[in-house]
Amino acid sequence: MSRAQRLFIADDWRDSADGAVLPIIDPATEEQIGSVPVATPTDLDDALEAAEYGARHCRRLSAHERSACLRRMAQGIRKQSDDIARSVTLETGKPLAESRAEVLATAEHFDWNAEEARRVYGHVLQEREADTRFEVRYEPLGVVAAITAWNFPALLPGRKLSAALAAGCSVILKPSEEAPSAAFALAEIAAAAGLPTGALAVVTGDPARISSHLLSSGRVRKLSFTGSVGVGKLLMQQAAHGLTKLALELGGHGPVLIFPDADPEATATACARAKFRNAGQVCISPSRFFVHRSIAARFRDAFVRYARDLRIGNGLDPEVEMGPLTNTRRFEAAQALVADALAGGGKLLAGGGRPASQQRGFFFEPTVLADVAPEARILHEEPFVPVAPILEFDDFDQVLARANALPFGLAAYLFTNDLATAEHAADALEAGMVGINDFALAAAEAPFGGVKQSGIGREGGALGIREFLEAKTLKTVFRGN
Ligand code: NAD
Repeated sequence: MSRAQRLFIADDWRDSADGAVLPIIDPATEEQIGSVPVATPTDLDDALEAAEYGARHCRRLSAHERSACLRRMAQGIRKQSDDIARSVTLETGKPLAESRAEVLATAEHFDWNAEEARRVYGHVLQEREADTRFEVRYEPLGVVAAITAWNFPALLPGRKLSAALAAGCSVILKPSEEAPSAAFALAEIAAAAGLPTGALAVVTGDPARISSHLLSSGRVRKLSFTGSVGVGKLLMQQAAHGLTKLALELGGHGPVLIFPDADPEATATACARAKFRNAGQVCISPSRFFVHRSIAARFRDAFVRYARDLRIGNGLDPEVEMGPLTNTRRFEAAQALVADALAGGGKLLAGGGRPASQQRGFFFEPTVLADVAPEARILHEEPFVPVAPILEFDDFDQVLARANALPFGLAAYLFTNDLATAEHAADALEAGMVGINDFALAAAEAPFGGVKQSGIGREGGALGIREFLEAKTLKTVFRGN
């Protein structure tokens, strides 16, 4: 079973005011493994009140005190990493090794932001007149609402929380109801780390009702959201009502450009490994593979071999390399995208449906497509499934135009050892992050975020904490009247 879940409000665990719950489903077995409370408006008002109290007290902590709390949280996460990782696998289906890596990366964000808390530098301006001074200070924004997706249920809340708490804000976190356990574990760890009461609340329930209640309250200073472009747009409209500040980490459709000098087999293996990680349910997942025609056949063969050899099964089995999709919506999306590509003339090179070995669960085979028509849905919509369309190109300018043609711009990748090609392509790619000969773009020290419709703002790195701070300008005249 998953952990027993209750709302975390004012440092207290409670059921929702009317006792309503939603089921948590194990995607590998389709069985209910727990339940999550549905917060009522009264619960949300209590969370807001506690968060306002928390914000006043977090702000009064010194930066060094906040830093020490975050360090303790990092240690707490590491201590509980096995338990949290298991719950992540149970709720999302991802292999245990991926869950462990996610939880340890979450701890790194707390360590990183423990340092950033101590490095918020204001500045003093050169005076215009004698005996005067302009000074710029950075202050915490106040109450932050954070809403996160299910695909990285520890890391996504952890990135937001660690930066907001480092800045001296309080946070009301609404994780995904499909994979909430890691967020509740973070609440337990926060409570033990010595943060002021109300520094963190965790609520779950009806997402649209929660976001509109929080945003219309006039008490939330910033909404930090990770999820789909569609919901991001809805939230932007709701935030406009009170001009609430926004950070949006949204979807993408990562192009990969494989230039003729790249090693076709080694690059195909790296591409396939990245594509099928978390069954393709990664916002920076490579999802459109543009291979130079001269090496396309060798690349395709190696990619298909990797896809066929992947061990699929329950993520709790240590031998398993790819688990199920997290929910039935993703399974249906995979089916629909493949059917549409094939109807438009695409060729199926591997996979294409439910693996014969898995009769239950939301399992979908690692799938490779070729000759996909330019108008196929999979080349335009973020797939978020383990389906890889392999496309060919001849010309540098043409492939860049194809890569940049979508309204998204989260991550893009290129493979070449030619310095000039790498420089020109990286410069021209419209993306918040570019991986050159590598896919590992997410790290605590590196800013993470997108351009165009992939989002607003950055998480991680030196920029992450900035999202939760506001500048205050002071002018002093050193002369009593
Ligand atoms: P989603 O937008 O459906 O849900 C994300 C969160 O928003 C969840 O907590 C959900 O409960 C909530 N939500 C859903 N509908 C809502 C509504 N009407 N009002 C308020 N909240 C609502 O996305 P998802 O399917 O959970 O996650 C997949 C998406 O997240 C993909 O598009 C993926 O690319 C994106 N993502 C982006 C990043 C990033 O850092 N850029 C990271 C991970 C995932």
